[in-house]
Formats: sequence, structure tokens, C-alpha cells
Amino acid sequence: MLNGTIDLHLHSTCSDGKESPEELIESAVAEGYEIISITDHDTVAAIPRAIQAAEGSNLEVIPGIELSSVDGVDDVHILGYFIDYTAPEFQKRIEFFKKKRRERADEIVHNLNQLGLDIQFDTVLRLAHGAPIGRPHIAEALLSEELVTTYGEAFNRYIGQDGPAYVPKYKVEPEEAINLIHDNGGVSILAHPGILDRDELIFELKEVGLGGIEAIHPFHVYEKQVYYEELAKNHGLLFTGGSDWHGQGRSSHFRKLINARKVPRESIEAMKSFVKSRKQSGNQAV
Ligand code: AMP
Ligand code: ZN
Ligand code: FE
Ligand code: FE
Repeated sequence: MLNGTIDLHLHSTCSDGKESPEELIESAVAEGYEIISITDHDTVAAIPRAIQAAEGSNLEVIPGIELSSVDGVDDVHILGYFIDYTAPEFQKRIEFFKKKRRERADEIVHNLNQLGLDIQFDTVLRLAHGAPIGRPHIAEALLSEELVTTYGEAFNRYIGQDGPAYVPKYKVEPEEAINLIHDNGGVSILAHPGILDRDELIFELKEVGLGGIEAIHPFHVYEKQVYYEELAKNHGLLFTGGSDWHGQGRSSHFRKLINARKVPRESIEAMKSFVKSRKQSGNQAV
């Protein structure tokens, strides 16, 4: 068996991954995975497709999302699991985020044009296939127009946080993302805290309801993963993990390599208990 059979952090073509939900499910089933979650950025479009594709197999598909929020200058990604992704209020709010992403992408393209790069917004739109537009789509557009030679170069030269064409996203506070997940029956998990590297924020967010942290992530070295697992256990937080797979050649193409740590089944059981007890305590919008 590969390095663990549970992966709670995958991206599909519904956001900025290279593989469709069906393709992801097909390979997860073929490779003997037990439980996966597609956690696309600010969209739940992959969920029903993934569930349908997994029908008849032994693969469990957990509804997931990765919400983008911002604290100061930092991007804070909040994963949501077991959300009621069909709830109209939830869908309405994430549609709004999608609209804001589109406006921002238009501004980034405008900045690139000002820098003399001949890139069209339509190209970006086409590459996004209806997904909420992220910088990865813009990087792909720059690549396809041969204005950069690698995906990474697009970020390093133009659209990275310090790049000349960068435009910040519409500001969603981490607390709003956490509430949005909890109000819709889910559990919130701070994604890749090691990338954020602001551990004090974990405790601040716990105060506003954060359920757990993503200890196991390819950008965390082994020791960091152990450290976050311990931190979670010592502070009454859940911990999860996943590969943050976006497809071969994308930023975290480590599907089968999450630095040797496995995501334990107990993590999923603990999340299930968490959402169940919240429901029972009536702490959820019905
Ligand atoms: P966005 O949400 O539109 O700001 O895009 C963020 C995504 O861009 C991240 O989730 C990564 O997949 C990707 N990304 C951000 N910075 C870099 C970088 N320096 N190199 C490669 N990919 C990056
Ligand atoms: Zn992404
Ligand atoms: Fe992320
Ligand atoms: Fe991600």
C-alpha cells in the first residue's frame, strides 16, 4: 500500500487542480484509498461529482472545501469537512466569493497588460473552466502564451505576493470562514499551519471555534508534522492531513508523499463526533 490511504486535501479542475473529480476518484479507487476529500478553493462543485464517481466502490468521499481568508497580510486557508454543501445560504456566499475572484483576476490581467504582457482575460476564463479563478489559472495563461517558461516563474516574476501584478483577494476574515463552515454543519480545520507559521493564530482561532489543524501536509517536514499533531492533542484540537495535490507539476505534487506520516482513521472518527455533537447541541443553523 502507498503511504497511507486517507487523503483529505485534493484539488480538482473545479478549482485549480489539473484532474477532474472523476479522474481523481478513479485513481484513488485504483490505488486502494479508503477515504478522500476534494477540498477545492471556494467551491463545492466537485463534491456531487466525486460522490457519484465513487458509487459502488469502497472509497468514502467526505464533502470538503478550502476557504480562502486573510489575516493582515497572510493568506489563511480554512478547510471545511462534512459541510452541508447544498445549503442555499452557503452556496450563495461562496458564489459571491467567486464573483470577487473574477473581478480580482481581471485586475491582475490588467496589471500584466500594463507591464507589457499580451495576455487576455478570455484566455484565463477559458482555462478556469467555470471554476473560481485563482492565480494558478493566470499562471497557466502566461505559460500558454509563452510569456513565462515555467509555472513557478509566473509567480516569481509577476503574480506572487511581492510581484508587480499582484492584487490581494477580497478580504474574508478567518472567523467568517470558520463560522460559515460551522453554520452549515461542518468542522473547520486550519490548512497547512506550517506554511502560515503563525502558531499564535491557531489559539486565537480556537477561541472563535476552530476545530483543528492540518498537521500532515507535504510542506511540513516530518518533525513539523509530529509537532502539529502533538500541539493539536495537547490543546483539544483535531488534526488532519492531506497531500494538497493539484496535479503533476503543480505547486504540491506530492500525492503519494506526505512525508511518511499517515492520516489516522481516528482523525475522521473525531471529526464525525465533532460535527455530531455540534448538531445535537443545536449549535447549527438548520
Ligand atoms: P489565489 O488563491 O488565487 O491567491 O492563489 C493561491 C494559489 O496559488 C495557492 O493555493 C497555490 O496553489 C498557488 N501559489 C501561490 N504562490 C505560489 C508560488 N510562489 N508558486 C507556485 N504556486 C503558488
Ligand atoms: Zn490551489
Ligand atoms: Fe491552501
Ligand atoms: Fe489546497
